[in-house]
Amino acid sequence: MKKYDVIIIGAGQAGAPLAKKLANAGKKTVIIEKRFYGGTCVNDGCTPTKTWVASAKAAYMAGKSTELGVPVKRFSINMSQIKKRKDDIVLRSRNGGLHAAEKTKNLDVIFGEAIFTGDKTLQVNLNSGKKQTLQADLIFLNTGASPLIPQIDGLNDIKYLTSTTILDLDYVPEHLLILGGNYIGLEFGQMFRRFGSKVTILEKSARIVSHEDEDISAEMQNILEAEKITIHNNAHATKFKQKAGGKITVTVSAGDKESKIKCSHVLVAVGRTPQTEALQLQKTGVVTDETGHIKVNNKLETNIPGIYALGDVKGGPAFTHISYNDYTIVYRNIIEKQNLNINDRPVPYCMFTDPQLGRVGIDETEAKKLGLNYRVAKLPMAHVARAIETGDTRGFMKAIVDVKTKKILGAAVLGPEGGEIMTVLQMAMEGGITYDRIRYCVFAHPLYSESLNNLFMTLED
Ligand SMILES: Cc1cc2nc3c(=O)[nH]c(=O)nc-3n(C[C@H](O)[C@H](O)[C@H](O)COP(=O)(O)OP(=O)(O)OC[C@H]3O[C@@H](n4cnc5c(N)ncnc54)[C@H](O)[C@@H]3O)c2cc1C
Repeated sequence: MKKYDVIIIGAGQAGAPLAKKLANAGKKTVIIEKRFYGGTCVNDGCTPTKTWVASAKAAYMAGKSTELGVPVKRFSINMSQIKKRKDDIVLRSRNGGLHAAEKTKNLDVIFGEAIFTGDKTLQVNLNSGKKQTLQADLIFLNTGASPLIPQIDGLNDIKYLTSTTILDLDYVPEHLLILGGNYIGLEFGQMFRRFGSKVTILEKSARIVSHEDEDISAEMQNILEAEKITIHNNAHATKFKQKAGGKITVTVSAGDKESKIKCSHVLVAVGRTPQTEALQLQKTGVVTDETGHIKVNNKLETNIPGIYALGDVKGGPAFTHISYNDYTIVYRNIIEKQNLNINDRPVPYCMFTDPQLGRVGIDETEAKKLGLNYRVAKLPMAHVARAIETGDTRGFMKAIVDVKTKKILGAAVLGPEGGEIMTVLQMAMEGGITYDRIRYCVFAHPLYSESLNNLFMTLED
């Protein structure tokens, strides 16, 4: 048995930077990763998808360039080049993180699967085939999540794609049917439509991105339908069937109607499930909830003192920046003896469709539900000078403000560079800059953010 000061399981967006920092702070640390260094974000999530989003945007702009007076008569998609570009960027990032870890004093990197065998004791089934037993008083669980596969008749009999396996495609599917109209499904749907696939999205709720405000779902649906993506709302896939080597037939029920759709590929994008089962957490007494997520307090400590869970595996907002922030919270609490918790941090996020949806704080639905004294400022992108000049007026900016304090409570920017514009509003929220001041801020013309003046002018009494 090898004893360490710190064991970190999972080299994700919290584990990897935490390992380096703790080792540099003098703790004898080991990080165990069963697959690729950097976890989901680097290997199967943000990095590869946003790399492909860039290629898809290039295709979209090629199609649109005639409108801007630059006729592109013909263009084609080289999917194997698009994949290679993505693979190169992913590998550079993965290897950069791994090499930095391997060079760090006090830090051991082990590749294998960690399984608890007793109190704060675990066995690692090394990828080399050997086994190793480790123990530490301080343990961090950063094992992330993997694609959730629903139980649907015949699904396991077809070769369906997930957000991970679709990234291996070096060709463009003829007809991609996507289960799930949320961030991952919409990002892939738009991207593959732009690469040339016919795309059909099945969403079981009444609207896509159903936890956003209704006007956002409606505008997003218009934007995607304008690109000839077919979206079925209130639609449940109930059966999959595929003749050897032939098309996949999907039975879809919507209300009391049943129909059949034929497609060449199916992408399952209905959510993600925590990777906790293999850990055998009961052997060390750590408790999970009914969905398998590890229960933590607001300092990210589990029910067992000294064992922490960070990132997607603890549930809650599943974003890279949240996992990364989890690491900074535990590091500062444990090493710098601060008293930070996760309750008060903002949770901004961006959906990387084109246009993007940047979101922070509460939305209109929540403001209504909480019975707040609020107002909604809304400005169509068609009124934004920069959007008109660049030829992309899809979407709108929207902010929820408190009538009495004039503080910004939340924002949604569905538009070109929506994530960046949202971040300007987030900074105002964090700095306590009220909307009546932003109305008269001098912003450089003609930036998208300049129109924040006009956004809040809409609230002029
Ligand atoms: C397609 C897609 C696109 C996304 N796009 C964005 C985006 O644009 N922006 C954003 O903020 N977020 C995005 N996300 C979410 C983001 O990737 C995750 O929230 C982020 O990676 C945080 O993950 P984590 O640190 O919790 O763990 P992960 O990064 O998932 O890392 C967990 C690691 O633990 C390892 N592991 C698991 N079990 C064991 C074990 N028993 N032993 C050893 N190792 C183990 C895994 O192999 C994995 O490497 C996206 C996700 C997907 C799937």
